[in-house]
Amino acid sequence: MKAAAFDLVRPRTVADALAALADGARPLAGGQSLGPMLNFRLATPERLADIRTLAALRAHAETDDTITWGAAVTHAEVEDGRVPDPTGGTLRAIAGHIAYRAVRNRGTVGGSLAHADPAADWISALTALGGSVRIAGPEGEREEALTGWMSGAFATQLAEGELLLSVTIPRPRPGARLAYRKLCRKEGEFAMAIAAVLDDPARAIRRVVVGATDGAPIIAEGADAGPRAHAAIDAWPGEAWKARLLHVSLDRALGDIAA
Ligand SMILES: Cc1cc2nc3c(=O)[nH]c(=O)nc-3n(C[C@H](O)[C@H](O)[C@H](O)COP(=O)(O)OP(=O)(O)OC[C@H]3O[C@@H](n4cnc5c(N)ncnc54)[C@H](O)[C@@H]3O)c2cc1C
Repeated sequence: MKAAAFDLVRPRTVADALAALADGARPLAGGQSLGPMLNFRLATPERLADIRTLAALRAHAETDDTITWGAAVTHAEVEDGRVPDPTGGTLRAIAGHIAYRAVRNRGTVGGSLAHADPAADWISALTALGGSVRIAGPEGEREEALTGWMSGAFATQLAEGELLLSVTIPRPRPGARLAYRKLCRKEGEFAMAIAAVLDDPARAIRRVVVGATDGAPIIAEGADAGPRAHAAIDAWPGEAWKARLLHVSLDRALGDIAA
């Protein structure tokens, strides 16, 4: 099937993009999720606003404590080290295992976070790191922690007419480790189970995120975050085989931290 007819606008600034959104346009980033939705007519917007080239969304920045990626930074740019990776390579490796290179060349970090597929990689990895997103809308700009970002499958704190501008990731301190494990049937497919564990002793942070739960990720914090995440998987209402995969991915990620 082909997409229904739509108008395409190419805003040059965030203000122009917000005006287009207020006029009913839907943001188009890499099109790797929206494109198939259009073709299957699961989405039939009358207007799309191509936000891929907006300078504010393409930028990245660093401070002593954080790094920020614009929402339109692509998975391939992370994979290739063209934006800073505060984990010393783990985020690059995660990017390199999202789908395949053609998808990574176009798919964006912001598009992934806005789309909020429960099996997507960035939501779990960046939540474990304590990331937050900056959002612009008709009422101005605001910041949202990723720990509360997803309210369910494909459901986020992003309201109609709002644009995700960037994601900011606190720098783990020296000695910190991020472990990331996902289980897929084969390379390039969405995960069946994800576990991300941040252990940052200098900041007294242990955060566990279990993703691909068919809804919002399971998040546990504190010294006993591992056992509490396992208990949350036991209480999770999904199928037993899938719960088993979630347990296995979590055990592997916790094992990486312990090793
Ligand atoms: C074959 C295939 C395999 C894949 N495998 C994986 C995988 O293993 N892991 C993984 O994580 N992902 C995977 N993906 C998804 C991929 O990562 C996409 O990049 C991602 O889902 C959407 O990003 P995008 O930039 O293409 O967004 P788009 O498809 O352009 O947009 C997606 C949605 O987000 C909205 N949106 C986009 N940007 C913004 C913004 N800045 N502000 C507000 N709303 C916005 C759009 O309006 C739309 O509703 C796969 C995709 C394909 C096609």
